[in-house]
Amino acid sequence: MIPIRAYQGTRVAVLGLGRTGMATAKALAAGGAEVSPWDDDAAKREGAEAAGLILDDLYARDWGDCGALVISPGIAHTLPKPHPIAAMAKAVGVPIINDITLLGEAFAKDPHAQVIGVTGSNGKSTTCALIAHILSQAGLDVQLGGNIGRAVLDLDPPKPGRVYVLELSSYQLELADNLQCQVAVLTNLSPDHLERHGDMAGYVAAKAHIFTQSGPDDGVILGMDDVMSQTLYTKLRNRRLKPRPVSAKKVLGDGVSVLGGKLYDAALGRSQHVLSLNGHPSLEGRHNGQNVGIAYSVARTLHIRPDVIKAAIASFKGLAHRQERLAPIDRVAFINDSKATNGAAASQALQRFRDIFWILGGEAKSDGVEATLAHLQSVRAAYVYGRDARKLIKQLGQSLPLVQCRSLEDATQRAFDDGLASSYEAPTVLLSPACASFDQFANFEARGAAFKAHVEILRQAYQGASAMERTS
Ligand code: ADP
Repeated sequence: MIPIRAYQGTRVAVLGLGRTGMATAKALAAGGAEVSPWDDDAAKREGAEAAGLILDDLYARDWGDCGALVISPGIAHTLPKPHPIAAMAKAVGVPIINDITLLGEAFAKDPHAQVIGVTGSNGKSTTCALIAHILSQAGLDVQLGGNIGRAVLDLDPPKPGRVYVLELSSYQLELADNLQCQVAVLTNLSPDHLERHGDMAGYVAAKAHIFTQSGPDDGVILGMDDVMSQTLYTKLRNRRLKPRPVSAKKVLGDGVSVLGGKLYDAALGRSQHVLSLNGHPSLEGRHNGQNVGIAYSVARTLHIRPDVIKAAIASFKGLAHRQERLAPIDRVAFINDSKATNGAAASQALQRFRDIFWILGGEAKSDGVEATLAHLQSVRAAYVYGRDARKLIKQLGQSLPLVQCRSLEDATQRAFDDGLASSYEAPTVLLSPACASFDQFANFEARGAAFKAHVEILRQAYQGASAMERTS
């Protein structure tokens, strides 16, 4: 845990007692603050009490003695509508901050705090996990956390030789522009979470907070495969920073490019082939080219040798729920891409596989499945379920056969049946929902786990039926 001492003797309200809020309350208490923790959810409150926190009903409190309100990333403080407690704090001028703001304050005073911060619309977790893996393989003491894994204040405190690899979401960065990153990374920009940020400009501004503290001597690395990231690159250059570009679409005269599974580095003046990704199934696909190019660029910024990076990339296992391949049933392949919570992420999977029986649905983003519409060539049928099924079906229009399903389970069954009955040699049942999961699941992990469980039931039924056929 990283104790937060800046609020010693001061009362700090903590709203939201999930992973982030619990770590925040403990870190503040360890640093001597008077903590007032609260959550609207009774189960979370019980859990916090069981962990030794003393609850304080923030609806009933007089805010006069509060130095700050720390909110969890999932809680809105402006749009679409401020949480009532955030509104109360704001009305009396109590600053609203989050755990990243607290970390930024604490790390600003710590000469040993070395941060690699990663943000972007897609690819953050994969890129962070890969960076952490490369740095660990290179012998560094790595702490990985933030929007992936442990909450930042739950990580171990700074010490010489320790490096923090932090995944930072737009919700986290919205309230935190004070974190100094020795290397700050943006993977890409596409529309997401616009209801919280108002519009694309608000979303990009929140993400760009990762660069606020960057100076000319800090590493700044940007994926350059979308127009908005290119615009940001130019703005950062105008600030006299030295952003290093990465592309998985074209060879760059400067920076790192990954094309056709080959990584090229132009650091020495001209593009040189450094490593090949072919034969690494966990890093296939153009999107992963971008992730690997960025991770490579970060590692080179930290002076890790290319041969060490190459060996580490070869031993990277990939993360669950991101184009994760499950065992096939008969000739039908199954891919769990539950983490594809927006159209841009799903379109990566749609471009990668052949003869796809596509399962999608849930809580649609404001642009629905817009980003997928240009990438439906390999989709043979789509199985749509969840809260916004009708809206998605309307948006997909006449472009392909559409099946409205009652649930994820129903969709999995139908997609499998149709795939198996089809004449395609190797059909793929792909869960790549292009939507948030919250209408039916606690999170994308629960959705992916449910999909895997449904596939297992199909497998048993199929094996049972095959066995019966053999004996009869
Ligand atoms: P994030 O943490 O930003 O959500 P993940 O690495 O967890 O990113 O991947 C989320 C989804 O986005 C998955 O469906 C994955 O296949 C896809 N994806 C991963 N990297 C990229 C990328 N660089 N560009 C576009 N989509 C990506």
